[in-house]
Amino acid sequence: MEKNDGSSDKIRLSDDEWRKRLGAERFSILREKGTERPGTGKYYHFKGQGVFICGACGQELFASETKYDSGSGWPSFWEPLSPDSIEEHDDGSHFMRRIEVVCSRCGSHLGHVFEDGPKPTGLRYCINSASLDFKPKG
Ligand code: FE
Repeated sequence: MEKNDGSSDKIRLSDDEWRKRLGAERFSILREKGTERPGTGKYYHFKGQGVFICGACGQELFASETKYDSGSGWPSFWEPLSPDSIEEHDDGSHFMRRIEVVCSRCGSHLGHVFEDGPKPTGLRYCINSASLDFKPKG
């Protein structure tokens, strides 16, 4: 796996390498900012206890304790595991102003964050199941 200059552990791969690693469907979401159809993702109703990790690089992203049912059709969290595990970018696509959420280590697209979440943060991290894998507790 190619890394950058050593000042961080960021992961940089070419599109071809990502496509090979992820397969066509996950590539389209993680690397081309796609969105899975609402209600279809495998983690939408998932109630397991553990940590959700980046589907592209394995970085830990969200704890199951912060997952809640938003009714949106996508897995929703009110807080990332750590502020350092994600990055947020302005997204003006599809005639909307949204904030895109990406993995801070590999830059892969995870979903968006909205300000209509529950307490204590009031945030809703709306994340594609296809962008995640799951590590059970213990
Ligand atoms: Fe990642």
